[in-house]
Amino acid sequence: MENLSFKTTSVWEKRDINTIDSYSRGYLDYITKSLTERLAVEETVELLKKAGFRPLEYYETAKENIKTGDKVYLVKSGKALLAFKIAGNFRKGLNMVAAHIDSPRLDLKPKPLKEKSGLAFLKTHYYGGIKKYQWLNIPLALVGTVVLENGDKVNINIGNAPGDPVFVISDLLPHLDNRKGDFREVFKGKDLNALAASIPYKADDQKDPVKYTFLKSIHEKYGLKEEDLFSADLQLVPAIQPREIGIDRSMLGAYGHDDRICAYTAITALIDAKDLAKPAGVLLLDKEEIGSDGNTGAKSYFWMNAILRIARLLSLDDPWESSLMAVEQSSMLSGDVAAAINPMFEDAHDPDNAPRLGHGIVLTKYTGRGGKGGTSEASAEFVAKIRKILNGASVNWQTGILGEVDRGGGGTVAKFFAEKGMNVLDAGPALLGMHSPFEIASKADLYETYRAYKAFLEMPDETL
Ligand code: MN
Ligand code: MN
Repeated sequence: MENLSFKTTSVWEKRDINTIDSYSRGYLDYITKSLTERLAVEETVELLKKAGFRPLEYYETAKENIKTGDKVYLVKSGKALLAFKIAGNFRKGLNMVAAHIDSPRLDLKPKPLKEKSGLAFLKTHYYGGIKKYQWLNIPLALVGTVVLENGDKVNINIGNAPGDPVFVISDLLPHLDNRKGDFREVFKGKDLNALAASIPYKADDQKDPVKYTFLKSIHEKYGLKEEDLFSADLQLVPAIQPREIGIDRSMLGAYGHDDRICAYTAITALIDAKDLAKPAGVLLLDKEEIGSDGNTGAKSYFWMNAILRIARLLSLDDPWESSLMAVEQSSMLSGDVAAAINPMFEDAHDPDNAPRLGHGIVLTKYTGRGGKGGTSEASAEFVAKIRKILNGASVNWQTGILGEVDRGGGGTVAKFFAEKGMNVLDAGPALLGMHSPFEIASKADLYETYRAYKAFLEMPDETL
């Protein structure tokens, strides 16, 4: 008799462990280096160049047309990126995966240095949704870019190389901690100041001698003065090396899985995608964690402009109209991580609808909060198409929603593309400990997400 039930299964029962392991090694290398959106762009460009992708500007400067089979990419302000493989009829729409490469972290304040009781601190402003206590008493690395008045860029990375010093936000010892109440109120954003130096600089005219030690040190190492720290994108990120988790090494712990795991799986899927029926693309976006605003976020026109530039280089009649047509008829997987059911906190989830670690890519028909507030929700028709594609490629997939109804919620970039007329479905691996300094992903889900994105980008035209 035909089995009428819908049941998900473990990826581990189906795939070869060595294949999963070998794919995960590439990701480990990527996630280790991609500590900021800028570094994620740099790492991604390396991968694209190796695979023969050329910058869009190359074609524009050489006045050379783009043709079927060409591979192009564009970097926006060093913090966002698009990559496309050209195939098929552009006007009939593109197949795209979007992911974001910004992650929750502690940004330095515009004037970050502070000395108090003989210790120097870096004052921070948290970026994205964090549980503040998770960022206390862990080693933090200072990573980012300072731009001088003359435009020179100074890249800073302290805390990641072996032997580097780190920074730390010191919490109150338990013996004296009589604070009571909700953790959201006990741990305050204004207290997220990281210890940065303790030796007083020997100069009589210094009001804050320890702070001066810090300044002296970044001056010697990078040629910076205090004012330079204002024209800077500097972040404190966990200085914790990605590690395999479990005696079976089945999981990966790392900072920034959300959402660099989707960035890596999407880019490698694009690089490996073959026999394309339609143009295939990947968009790596910034600012998702704070609402997708800004000129590198999903709400920006930069990606639309890039599509227009490609239409021009394809010599299409009326490139603007062609781009709008292409976008409206495009299909997108919004690649973002889902919340895996945590057996210790089952009541936060609807166990019947929560994704499970190791059960494959999670298809999330809608996100949002309350009564589906703020979601673009994929149509039944589009979900059916994706289901068919993934089943056709024997991809292990599962359904998911973000937590129990009225428990909280969240969103992704999906709605910003859906509002332009695209069909969009959220699809990505599930994590434990999302937004913590050490997020947990399953190696099996990592690999299965890659397989799903590849099958999607290779989707034959007649299925659309
Ligand atoms: Mn995300
Ligand atoms: Mn997130």
